Amino acid sequence: MRSVSVLGATGSVGESAFDLLMRAGGPAAFRTVALTGGANVARLAGMARALRAEIAVTAWPEKLTELRSLLAGSGTEAAAGSAAVAEAAARPADWTLSAIVGAAGLPPGLEVLNRGGTLALANKETLVAAGPLVMSRARDTGARILPVDSEHSAIFQSLQGEDLDSVEHVTITASGGAFRDWPLERLALATVAEASRHPNWAMGQRITIDSASMFNKALEVIEAHEFFGLQPERIRVLVHPQSIIHAMVTHRDGGSIAHLGAPDMRHAIGYALNWPARAELPVAKLDLAALGSLTFSAPDEARWPALRLAREAMLAGGASGAVLNAAKEQALDDFIAGHIRFTDMAPAVERALDLAAREPGFAQSPGDLDAVLAWDRFARRAAAQGRGAA
Ligand code: NAD
Ligand code: MG
Repeated sequence: MRSVSVLGATGSVGESAFDLLMRAGGPAAFRTVALTGGANVARLAGMARALRAEIAVTAWPEKLTELRSLLAGSGTEAAAGSAAVAEAAARPADWTLSAIVGAAGLPPGLEVLNRGGTLALANKETLVAAGPLVMSRARDTGARILPVDSEHSAIFQSLQGEDLDSVEHVTITASGGAFRDWPLERLALATVAEASRHPNWAMGQRITIDSASMFNKALEVIEAHEFFGLQPERIRVLVHPQSIIHAMVTHRDGGSIAHLGAPDMRHAIGYALNWPARAELPVAKLDLAALGSLTFSAPDEARWPALRLAREAMLAGGASGAVLNAAKEQALDDFIAGHIRFTDMAPAVERALDLAAREPGFAQSPGDLDAVLAWDRFARRAAAQGRGAA
């Protein structure tokens, strides 16, 4: 029986993974090692009971007593805190999904790679903040990373049986998020509630707002650069409001292979779960005649400066990814808290990148977790500095 762990089980991606595991037979089909979550310990305990997990971990230490009592008599061990999340990730499992949001996913993700495990990676921040470190760790230990971000899963699937050297460029699509059609001058007035509504995908609040600002696509471009080793000029972004084509690989001979599917994360998670096989999944099959048409446009960089920042960060290399990611997280926190406007986020990230570029060592890509975390702290401070200056 295969063993699995799900980090960030109580989130949007985590719930989709739980759904797939339960449909596949739950504890009769998989041995669940670890499930981790945050404040929602009732949901975490419910999942742990349903899957008969060995251990359930909340990242929030103050929630330990509650989790323990929810798990009483279940046979599932309870633990709490970031170190416990990383320890749970280090427990041997055949397949581990990282569906934690933010840079908090990096330490447990590295633990999976350290033990040479298979890491199904939804947590794009792992590759954005520490791509070279993560990829070299995987090479050293023989660990495998399977992309779960839908665009990267789409590229990965489109590349099966193909030679990366024959690829001229890849295209990842973007829905355009909540504000695709808003007049530019209205963007500064966008509220958190408005930015939290995605036209096509049901996702966690943070990635939904990142979709409206295009920072999600900025992270994904860097993620593709790090994971597939593609140079920045070989990665394109295309606005595609219907979110049916997720990505496309264009070969030097003029042929393009696109990946199409309903916007449902259970496809990409299920693909990674069953890889290299394919299994029946509860995902709606496309009816293109009913859809009628798919539309596309080039992204407007005046509307979405995040895409320019991603390109500049890739060209600068070094600590850029760690800085861009953490500065973005800080700016997003500040927008959600009402300290800055929607349109202040990109300038905050740009300020952090500019300040970081003047620091010694910026040109070297961080060689270990501590170095990544030091840049992460620097970037959060730098991004927060301009707060209220708007
Ligand atoms: P979410 O906010 O719905 O869930 C996040 C999960 O991480 C929860 O279980 C939460 O408890 C846990 N968590 C939050 N902070 C934590 C911390 N500090 N330490 C440990 N655990 C913590 O997020 P989501 O939308 O499911 O996204 C998860 C990841 O997957 C993100 O990296 C996101 O970019 C990526 N992703 C999401 C989708 C999607 O459809 N939601 C699609 C592609 C990629
Ligand atoms: Mg994506």
